[in-house]
Amino acid sequence: MNNSNTFGPLMETASLTWRDGQPVSGQFGDVYFSRENGLEETRYVFLQHNQLPGRFQQLSNNETFVIAETGFGTGLNFLAAWQAFQEHAPAGSRLHFVSVERYPLSTADLERALALWPELAQQARELVNNYPQPVSGCHRIVLDGGRIRLTLYFGDAVEAFEAMTFSADAWFLDGFAPACNPGLWQDLLIQQVRDHSHQGTTLATFTAVGRVRRALADVGFQMQRVPGFGPKRDMLRGDLEQATPRNTENAGHILVVGAGIAGAATARNLAGRGYRVTVADQGGGPGAGASGNPQGALYAKLGVQLNDQTRLALAALLHSQRFYPLAAPNAWHPTGLLMTGFSDQERERQQKFLAANTYPDTLLRAVNKDQASSLTGVTCPEGGLWFPDSGWLEPAVLCRQLLDHPNIRTEFGFRATRLLPCNNRWCLSGDGRQDLQADTVILAAGHLTRKLMPVTGEFRMKAIRGQITRLPERHLTQAPNAVITGARYLNPPADGHVVTGATFDLRDPDPEVRADSHRENLDGLETMLPGLLAAPGMETEGISGRVSFRCTTHDYQPVVGPLVNGEGHTLGGAWLLTGLGSKGLMWAPLMAEYLADVITGEPQALPRALAGRVSPERCLAATRKTGSPA
Ligand code: SAM
Repeated sequence: MNNSNTFGPLMETASLTWRDGQPVSGQFGDVYFSRENGLEETRYVFLQHNQLPGRFQQLSNNETFVIAETGFGTGLNFLAAWQAFQEHAPAGSRLHFVSVERYPLSTADLERALALWPELAQQARELVNNYPQPVSGCHRIVLDGGRIRLTLYFGDAVEAFEAMTFSADAWFLDGFAPACNPGLWQDLLIQQVRDHSHQGTTLATFTAVGRVRRALADVGFQMQRVPGFGPKRDMLRGDLEQATPRNTENAGHILVVGAGIAGAATARNLAGRGYRVTVADQGGGPGAGASGNPQGALYAKLGVQLNDQTRLALAALLHSQRFYPLAAPNAWHPTGLLMTGFSDQERERQQKFLAANTYPDTLLRAVNKDQASSLTGVTCPEGGLWFPDSGWLEPAVLCRQLLDHPNIRTEFGFRATRLLPCNNRWCLSGDGRQDLQADTVILAAGHLTRKLMPVTGEFRMKAIRGQITRLPERHLTQAPNAVITGARYLNPPADGHVVTGATFDLRDPDPEVRADSHRENLDGLETMLPGLLAAPGMETEGISGRVSFRCTTHDYQPVVGPLVNGEGHTLGGAWLLTGLGSKGLMWAPLMAEYLADVITGEPQALPRALAGRVSPERCLAATRKTGSPA
């Protein structure tokens, strides 16, 4: 990777020198941790002076403890906190660690630095395996089966804390010494530390600089100077007493309507956080709707401009690429994915995209037609963009596995007809079935969601028909060994068939598989990869397919957040997760993560600007929102 002249979203990584086997920052000229014993220093400065072992022990089941840090560096502090949490905290409790990093270590440097601590080897391996790509923005990493969550923002600390939503129980104020790094220790950052704290929040820092102590005291922390680690004379610790108490949320019993990928991922996420969840779906099993296709491709169309829309898609893609190998290794096939430059327009778009952005080539890279052909095993008339960590998925298998959790109960064949508030709870009626009641309800029913929303008003969501074609492999002259997308997508064969599609039929409610849609899919495939079909004009009779309906919004962004009525007022305890369009595989894992964060009051996976992109309120038709005609 070339660090010079980089422009978004690739990050400049830390340039390290190694002195006696220990990392030293080239950018700041300071050490990452004490030369005496970095791990013991972390335990002394940050764990002991935030009284973490004792506070961990006192957590109740299902409680989450939040640590925030300035300067993730090698992740040593994080791993030490994780290990102490495993040792001291009760089984059902969880740790959430929020950190920021301006110059992320490369994965190779991270691995080398963490190899210094054999007793953290298990945690280090898991971190290294899930360490984010060096792209700016917020990364959510779920570790230890969901017991540990890391929200790692690659960017400047002040920018990060401005953007993020969380409240810390304890702070690790790390970062290089104020003399080497005055940019970090500014008053604005100290104010942000205060803003992301609550009554009882503590902090610890290795520095004892008077200016830092006074600034922290000025924003309300009761500061104490205490003996430092090893040869260091002093360090600081502090408590915040005069502040609003911590907000604790309890969503109670949760009902999720929809057992497709959105509902299943959300249900599993909340079940993993200790909630009892009931999932209702009209189908006979998981993934009966749009998530029931035998194969689906995981890809994002990243915008030429690195705006919030592009950042949101990028965050979702990266999260999914981490999620599927862990959630459903048997249903996930990381074959790589080619986005072909199949038309003049798309080629031009890709050229502009490459000229305007720098992405790590571990995430995506440009390939010519020969490279594209050798990567996919199919003769490609054009090159395109190659995504090495993407691939395809068996969505229904995934949904089934996600719903297999002791905290999840399923109600299949439940044709929901009406959702109403009753006695501070929610009550869902279904044809010929006993009503389901819950404290919290999440509508994740794709295009059927609008019908169940107990509100008037016009929401800019619509159903779009999509038919896929499942073609016996013998109809192809070459079998792809990676996913190819463009005019259509084409997946590698499974069970002797390839899947291609899907049509995009506006205002077409026909649920039946049709010959004209097969024709359209085959023509699209022939345009994208001429010569691949053995007989392009072949009869489509006898070829199987499947029709489902996407729920799409006016701006092709998902809808995730509190249910609002036509006037934009929220309805307590009711939430939406829909509008995933044809990108359910890309959106669902991160959107489920974010919605679960919001419902439980935990640190949020999406920075505020990106959260705004998915807010249900934006889907209110302009006539209602502004009171003026659209
Ligand atoms: N906590 C780390 C660990 O456990 O390895 C050590 C942190 S190291 C002493 C300081 C870190 O702060 C460096 O990785 C540095 O790149 C980062 N940093 C410095 N200034 C920053 C800023 N303004 N915003 C975000 N990170 C910053």
